[in-house]
Amino acid sequence: LFLKVISDEMRSMNGEQKINLAGLTSGKLKSLFSDLNEKPFRAGQVMKWIHQRGVTDIDFMSDLSKNLRQKLCDIAEIKLPHVLEEFSSSDGSRKWIVDVASGSQVEMVFIPEAGRGTLCISSQSGCSLDCSFCATGKQGFDSNLSVAEIVGQLWWANKRLDNFSQINTKPISNVVMMGMGEPLLNLDNVIDSVNIMMEDSAYGLSKRKVTISTSGVVPAINKMAGLTEASLAVSLHAPSDKLRSQIMPINKKYSIAELLDSVRSYMKSLSDKRVPLVEYTLIKGINDHRQHARQLAELLDSFPCKINLIPFNTFELSKYERPSSSSVSNFREILKKAGFTVTVRTTRGDDIGAACGQLVGAVADRTHRSVRYRTTAETGDKKVKFVGKLAAAAESM
Ligand code: SAH
Ligand code: SF4
Repeated sequence: LFLKVISDEMRSMNGEQKINLAGLTSGKLKSLFSDLNEKPFRAGQVMKWIHQRGVTDIDFMSDLSKNLRQKLCDIAEIKLPHVLEEFSSSDGSRKWIVDVASGSQVEMVFIPEAGRGTLCISSQSGCSLDCSFCATGKQGFDSNLSVAEIVGQLWWANKRLDNFSQINTKPISNVVMMGMGEPLLNLDNVIDSVNIMMEDSAYGLSKRKVTISTSGVVPAINKMAGLTEASLAVSLHAPSDKLRSQIMPINKKYSIAELLDSVRSYMKSLSDKRVPLVEYTLIKGINDHRQHARQLAELLDSFPCKINLIPFNTFELSKYERPSSSSVSNFREILKKAGFTVTVRTTRGDDIGAACGQLVGAVADRTHRSVRYRTTAETGDKKVKFVGKLAAAAESM
């Protein structure tokens, strides 16, 4: 992958590939304009055209001189992924399937709620981390998404929801990186992407409302301080290392104590006072016992946070089951009595395979894990049509 990134860079340096303006942060755009002997404020103008007005043609940028537009056209372009399919749920949520450069497809989901609209986006196609309860993990890993492919999901959702209307209130107030992939295994691109989302000249989202969710890649969390102000959610899912290692292989590498320490330091690095979200997927008979709730309360006793309980969403080939609503509320009550702020995530978009952990897209699995699980083609979202090389990949399984 490293080699691929280098060769992409080289190609663009050799002039074979144009610079994609859709993937540049304001800082990187400013350097580009400085190289072109132009003023830094050009960066804001270009960002507004792309991210606030949805323009993909440099010629349309009427506040840049003709000469500058020509200079830009020679070296740059605006390229975003394509929406291949769209699904609407009976509960108002929407799911879009987007193509990415590797030939795979990823999914994003829009969840409208009173007073806010949340977009759940993907950072990788597939995931290498193989958590036992996650459909994406069962697909294996294909590729990291580029900045334009990550930001492009927000761009498309804006286009589809209100066509970049400058008049209405914006349909998307919150972005969560809780779709496919582990964001912190694609750290550089994810950091640039969330920074573009929070940039005033782009989407201007509040830093409290852009959330990176991680399964706990400790060295990457340690690198985040100073690079971004985005909010953090941590997928904990178990109150002890023994149980967490059974359901999340990454815990064998980084223990709960190391994870909580790194999250604490990131939160301290932020310019305002904020607490992380602790995600806990409740799986029947695995981690949903009252004893687990008590252990969790003890573990998080001196760890300021909010807790979000996610009743397990089923998918084919998983033997796990969702706990009854009474055991979910018992679990919540124990935590509440211990003084925690606890929310239970309501399942949205279940009828279109858009609930947490159900996102599968159509991943060209380079790790062959999906063969092991006989998944993707046969058991993924059946509404996904396989195209091109994916059709071949699917047939060969
Ligand atoms: N890789 C990141 C972000 C994507 S997963 C992470 O693991 O945090 C987003 C959230 O969905 C995580 O908390 C994950 O544990 C949860 N999740 C995965 N599969 C699920 C399932 N089948 N049911 C409920 N939640 C699930
Ligand atoms: Fe990857 Fe997150 Fe799924 Fe685990 S839960 S396999 S880290 S996407």
